[in-house]
Amino acid sequence: IVSRESQTTDSVIDVSGIPIGGQQIQVIGGPCSVETQEQMDLSAQFVAAAECRLMRGGAFKPRTSPYTFQGKGKDGLTIFRRAASKYNLPIVTELMDVRMLDTFLEHDVDIIQIGTRNMQNFDLLKEVGRISKPVILKRGLSATISEWLMAAEYIAAGGNHNIIFCERGIRTFETAYRNVMDVTCIPVLKRETHLPVIVDPSHAGGKSWMVPALARAAIAAGADGLLIEMHPNPCEAWCDADQALNPQELKDLMASLKGIAGVI
Ligand code: PEP
Ligand code: MN
Repeated sequence: IVSRESQTTDSVIDVSGIPIGGQQIQVIGGPCSVETQEQMDLSAQFVAAAECRLMRGGAFKPRTSPYTFQGKGKDGLTIFRRAASKYNLPIVTELMDVRMLDTFLEHDVDIIQIGTRNMQNFDLLKEVGRISKPVILKRGLSATISEWLMAAEYIAAGGNHNIIFCERGIRTFETAYRNVMDVTCIPVLKRETHLPVIVDPSHAGGKSWMVPALARAAIAAGADGLLIEMHPNPCEAWCDADQALNPQELKDLMASLKGIAGVI
């Protein structure tokens, strides 16, 4: 279903009125995690001011250590929904457990993110395949492109074709940055699938100063959009502080993309 053989034209996913895929480039901005109402209100304000049309934020966080902040959970969804609605921003947030799916739907989550660590959680994939909400499917830490396509096929096989691929860096021998953003996968995926492809340079580079260069490379290579971590005050972020752009950096990045894509 996800392959070019089944559909030659590019799919455009409608996210609460905002198209992902096709002619426009969409940038999803927001903090790594939902912290407080004030932090999310400020984030939404800055995301909208930078002209990003969608917002991200994690309420359930897949942290490496069980002793670090695990996310605000259900309360985080309420905070996020309230903040984003003030600026008419559709929201993207990660689902880790099938038992929380109804809660996500009750909170009107606009895009369900399946994170890197769950790319091959087949029960989770089947469950989001049964609904029609758009899904961002992040690439697994060491997933090949064919494994990634097959993971998407699990969702599509259930009837949900609203799938967006998200490259977020893969693990290699290199230690100078968090992950290697695989630019090569962009043209390969665009050839193999009709579905949109976005890139998350924040989790790839892991440092805020790398993000603009990686973001521009992704758009130049044909990505349909970006997922960018920002924070009203990055040094105070509870999670992924090093890679968060501050509000001005987000604005500057958005301005610098215009020259490449010419379509934002
Ligand atoms: C995230 O986007 O918040 C996240 C945890 O990303 P990834 O699954 O790519 O590590
Ligand atoms: Mn993060």
